[in-house]
Amino acid sequence: MREDICTIPVSEAFEIKDGCPICRMYKTVEDRILNYILGDAMMEPDVRIETNKAGFCPNHLNKMMSMRGRLQLSLMLETHLKEIADTVFSKKLFSSAESKAKAAKKFNEGCFICRKIDFGFERMIDTIYRTYEKDRDFREMFNTQPRFCMHHFEQLLTGANKKKMPKYHKEFADNIIRITGDYLLNLCDDISAYCKSYDYRSREAEKGDMAELKLSPERATGFLNGQIPEEK
Ligand SMILES: [Zn+2]
Ligand SMILES: [Zn+2]
Repeated sequence: MREDICTIPVSEAFEIKDGCPICRMYKTVEDRILNYILGDAMMEPDVRIETNKAGFCPNHLNKMMSMRGRLQLSLMLETHLKEIADTVFSKKLFSSAESKAKAAKKFNEGCFICRKIDFGFERMIDTIYRTYEKDRDFREMFNTQPRFCMHHFEQLLTGANKKKMPKYHKEFADNIIRITGDYLLNLCDDISAYCKSYDYRSREAEKGDMAELKLSPERATGFLNGQIPEEK
């Protein structure tokens, strides 16, 4: 599998200022890998060997089921199921119930797509640190983002150390804390106003924009689970 399928130019995700840019990066890479798996990957036997062993998580299985390419998916599942049968349920192997459970756990916890995304993601996060360190325009673009989700707030902050960003690690951390903290304060007001709007005695609903308020739960869950809410 070509490595460039797992990565995208980082600045592309920061050019649009709407939602968490890292979630956007994730989705772009994920879409690329999903399309590759249900397309060109069929021509690469190495990929099939990997998917047979790693399998797919529930999230990615569901995503592939909703895409075109049922035959490609079925061909992959055919050999993956055989691999499970040969490994977990093999009659030849002298294996205890415990070791069968262990082998099943390995299949249940693996995902070829998650693994590839993680591989590409690590490199892209490092590129963010490097670009922030040396490119003024990128710093400006990063510092004016509207928000980061909780997961990517943690991920970006965890790796932003002196070693990776000798000059700008503090500025980087200050900005991501400011952006995420401000967004969270807005969310708190938002969800409170939404809850109050259910109270018929409240005047908040009359004052507030209901169409805007209606999406408060989507915005709050998007912040917590890293999914981009559908803003309408
Ligand atoms: Zn995110
Ligand atoms: Zn997965």
